[in-house]
Amino acid sequence: MSVEDIDRVAVLGAGSMGHGITEVIALGGYDVVMRDIEQEIVDEGYEDIEWSLQKLSEKGLVDQDPDEVMSRIDTEVDLETAVEDVDLVVEAAPENLELKHDIYEDLDEMAPDDAILATNTSSLPITDIAEATTRPEQVVGTHYFNPPVKMDLVEVIYGEETSDETAETAYEFIESIDKTPIYVKKDVRGFVVNSVLGPFGDEAAWMVSGDEATVKEADATMVHERGYPMGPFELGDMTGIDIGYSVRKEAGDPIPPIVQEKVDADELGRKTGKGYYDYEDGDGPDYGPDDVSEDFDWLRIEARMVNEAAKLIGNDVATPDAIDTGMRLGAGFPEGPCRRADKIGLDRILDKLETHYEQTEAERYDPADYLVELVNGGHTGEDAGQGFYEYGGEDGDREYRTLNVLREDEVLAIELDRPERMNALNEDLMDEIEHVLETADLDTVRCVTFEGAGDRAFSAGADIGGFANTEPWQAGTVTSMFETVNDFPRPTIAKIDGFCLGGGHELALACDMRIATTESQFGFPEISLGLLPGGGGTQRTMRMIGEARAKELVFRGERISAEKAEDWGLINRAVDGDEFDDVCAEFVEDCVEGPPIALDFAKKVMNRGEDASLEAALTMESQSFGLLMSTEDVLEGTTAFMEDRDPEFEGK
Ligand code: NAD
Repeated sequence: MSVEDIDRVAVLGAGSMGHGITEVIALGGYDVVMRDIEQEIVDEGYEDIEWSLQKLSEKGLVDQDPDEVMSRIDTEVDLETAVEDVDLVVEAAPENLELKHDIYEDLDEMAPDDAILATNTSSLPITDIAEATTRPEQVVGTHYFNPPVKMDLVEVIYGEETSDETAETAYEFIESIDKTPIYVKKDVRGFVVNSVLGPFGDEAAWMVSGDEATVKEADATMVHERGYPMGPFELGDMTGIDIGYSVRKEAGDPIPPIVQEKVDADELGRKTGKGYYDYEDGDGPDYGPDDVSEDFDWLRIEARMVNEAAKLIGNDVATPDAIDTGMRLGAGFPEGPCRRADKIGLDRILDKLETHYEQTEAERYDPADYLVELVNGGHTGEDAGQGFYEYGGEDGDREYRTLNVLREDEVLAIELDRPERMNALNEDLMDEIEHVLETADLDTVRCVTFEGAGDRAFSAGADIGGFANTEPWQAGTVTSMFETVNDFPRPTIAKIDGFCLGGGHELALACDMRIATTESQFGFPEISLGLLPGGGGTQRTMRMIGEARAKELVFRGERISAEKAEDWGLINRAVDGDEFDDVCAEFVEDCVEGPPIALDFAKKVMNRGEDASLEAALTMESQSFGLLMSTEDVLEGTTAFMEDRDPEFEGK
């Protein structure tokens, strides 16, 4: 079975995960039948999907007609009818091996012979589930995250017998519904994300149990110092302290005393009103930046997560890239643990683990063979040129997933490539934009252009996933990309055809110039979400078009047309669709043929001068003028003028 053969999918279970998975598969264009054991439950799931699609559509996060998406979904209670003509079954029934065995025995009889059977289990071995069938090679794990519509990641897990063909088809299927798959090549407990995430809460719990820190210090330091979307205790309360407790029990791992105390007292987190924080009489997680502690040993937590990652890599379960993608998209980490470890230095990480292993003899610090191997081989991270990743060489070789580099000569043409999300900026896309610019060859590139893939949007906003969607770390990550664009030492041009909203609008504003088709629309919808533009939108707009109009845009959250945007001075040109390419090409040509050093200086002086006093700005200008006088480009420019020919600037 290859992905092209998949037309119809059955989802078993209409609960929290089942209905969400049904929704994303229908959004992906497939016909889906959602099956549960009672009509009432399926109907409820169906209504939940309707509601969710409506919301997504109102927020402009999907451009498909909700009715059309719903028309691809059937509901069913009879298993045989549900699966008789499907190519793929996604099972999202309760987490109980016996129940799953019953289901897979039935599937073995009722589903077409070549159908792929995918389970959404989060903790049962795929191998054990597959045992109930006579076709274990066609059973695979596809682990979606909650809620599936928001969470981009899906782990694709091999059971012992899963064939490469099955896993590859499942992987391609996940890509085809615009989710990001990562391979988990062996059937390990917790798969990738939960394995690496385990020590985040566990080590913090040991530290607090040992009176080395308080709950608030741990949470504040991990969030405000280290950029995680949530503190370890806040996360424990959210997922349920009993869940982490039973995971440890099953694995035979020791239980930190503070976890035992909470379980004994039946204080299990949010769901019981009390856990590490008080949700009934108190304010919940009420830590803040003032609770950050210099003495908090965050490296111990990160070292243990890196150790788990190293075990997975050493045992051929996952690649560093898969782990990093998984932790960013599945757990909202600001940066993958392997990438971060390479920056910290693997020798430092190993040292931390060894020191604690010697002191405590606790198995959890026992360094992974692969980590020891890397360090002994001198591969201690970025500074050494190699760690989990290789550095140095051709850094530009990275494969981009969310953007395309259409040209990379004198013009660096970047296409935002998430058309199914109207090119909304997510973490990956922002990270990739930064990477393209940071690795651009300034000897060649004279001008950068941004455009959106598809025919609807330049970029319709920001689309950021994590543990939760409104965490302070986002602000930090969001802004660095906009500043990288703003500060790029070559002229940047946004080519806008369609929606240019929210974060996408801010990206356009961070560019030096904006050209738009008359069909384009501009706006900041953030205020209607209870937010404000967080990527420079409030400030750049005000400086560009004045306070009154900027406030109108930001406060009212309404969209304006390209003509009005041009009239207000928000964009350089609004042109008809058929002139758009030509006008853009003229702008680009002028930038490419212009003197690179003078353009760089002019950009710096104009960007920085805006915020300086006139006197300081004029000083900057005259200093830059003076510096330019000594360049070869000036000589070329003046000579060409005298000789009545076009200058050929070389940037010298
Ligand atoms: P849930 O209890 O919300 O939903 C399960 C649904 O399955 C219920 O509606 C139930 O009526 C139905 N069901 C029971 N027997 C069935 C059968 N024989 N055929 C079809 N449906 C049947 O549970 P959930 O949270 O959606 O979890 C489902 C699976 O997804 C579990 O394996 C779980 O481990 C996994 N998972 C859950 C999450 C999460 O955060 N909730 C995340 C990832 C994976």
